[in-house]
Amino acid sequence: MENKLINNYSNYDYENYSNFKGVQVINGVLNFPISWLNIQGYCEYSLYLQYAKGIQVPSTLAMKKGTEVHQNLEDKFKETAKPASFKDTLKTSKEIETKSREMFIIEPEYGIRGYIDEVQMTPDEFIIIDDKPGTKAYPSHINQVRAYCLAFQSMVNKQSNGEDNRRIIGALRQRGTDNIFYTEVFDEDVKNNIIYLIKRMHGLIEGSKPFIPTKNPNKCRSCRFKDKCENNLS
Ligand code: SF4
Repeated sequence: MENKLINNYSNYDYENYSNFKGVQVINGVLNFPISWLNIQGYCEYSLYLQYAKGIQVPSTLAMKKGTEVHQNLEDKFKETAKPASFKDTLKTSKEIETKSREMFIIEPEYGIRGYIDEVQMTPDEFIIIDDKPGTKAYPSHINQVRAYCLAFQSMVNKQSNGEDNRRIIGALRQRGTDNIFYTEVFDEDVKNNIIYLIKRMHGLIEGSKPFIPTKNPNKCRSCRFKDKCENNLS
């Protein structure tokens, strides 16, 4: 398998959305980081506290450790990876299996952007991998990888004029290992499901829907915003 460093940069003009830190407006559509779907699945009220109210709290030890492991993997990958464009990699991967890490994706139409931990391109399929600290496939993790698949599919369609129809598989992997503990084919049902959730996210951000706090006290107990949150159940 060849390692490719795909440098995708956003060429889209954007403005920052003043009501919500981290949100951009591209072609009149709100655009948010896909990693927020993981937070939304845990408790969407914490998104409100962090990005609408601007409350800042320190990172947890687990977050710091995760960032460190992530960076080590990235540095090791770069030792052997060759720079390549997305378009060329799509072409060559029809013959030679290719692996990329930290691939930037952006989809103005759906209003999402982010970095995919790892993309494996084979002559038959694309495997979109998100690394997670444990081995349990939480709905929030699944939503995150689904959104990566959605943006990736859209970018492939644009680059290939809709002619590259290789199957897309979303996968979750235990961070720092080869243990893939969840896979799912990105089909039409999955696609419709994630588009629905992304629309809900846009509704939350623009204020047409309320941020709903979790009803699970265990989540509040582990939440880094618990001391600042009026909905804390712990
Ligand atoms: S304390 Fe509970 S309700 Fe408040 S943001 Fe954290 S998880 Fe959500």
